[in-house]
Amino acid sequence: MCYYFVMYYDRISFINNQLQRKVRRMKLLKERIRREGNVKPGNVLKVDMFLNHQIDVELMNEIGKEFKRLFGDKKPTKILTIEASGIAIACITAQYFNVPVVFAKKAQSINLDGDSYTTKIESFTHKKVYDVIVSKKYLSRDDRILIVDDFLANGCALLGLIDIVKSAGASLEGIGIVIEKGFQSGGKAIRDMGIDLKSLAIIESMNAETGEVVFSDED
Ligand code: 5GP
Repeated sequence: MCYYFVMYYDRISFINNQLQRKVRRMKLLKERIRREGNVKPGNVLKVDMFLNHQIDVELMNEIGKEFKRLFGDKKPTKILTIEASGIAIACITAQYFNVPVVFAKKAQSINLDGDSYTTKIESFTHKKVYDVIVSKKYLSRDDRILIVDDFLANGCALLGLIDIVKSAGASLEGIGIVIEKGFQSGGKAIRDMGIDLKSLAIIESMNAETGEVVFSDED
């Protein structure tokens, strides 16, 4: 009886500790967004201070740990992202899963030589359509894929990556996003597809005039 109580108590404390760490990590991320994020017209949030130009590796480490906590049970064999900003996030995350990173490359035009999976993605920030490729050498039907990326807006980048995973016949185990702009359509579209999408910070609204950023689960 006493043994079971101790086991139960240990399990509850373990879950509590994990949740506290999660709250601390995500608080850290939200504080940085609030303090150093720059809201631009056109629903663009610049976070060049810690994510998209200068990279805060310590914060990145916390992001990697959190993705491991959220998707550890999915046992991915590879982490897939898209160049350029996704690469640093994917590499740090991959260290916690001990798996390789594959990043989709953007090209202005491609040779359809049959050696690559290809798709088209419209860039949210540059408003350009890119051909995107992944070599067939690095994705196969045996792979279990975790996709990670920095931002989710209208979902074009993710839909392109999902298309590539499907072309390879691999299984998509989940998607981890650092910052989701919840007021744009991508999150709903991807979740409606039944995909396990988790975002570390979800922005409910942001204002380019005042610079205010409101998160959807504000504490
Ligand atoms: P989506 O394809 O979901 O419309 O946009 C996602 C992609 O566009 C991400 O890979 C990210 O690089 C870029 N992106 C979208 N919104 C933002 C933003 O507000 N700030 C930054 N820095 N990048 C964004």
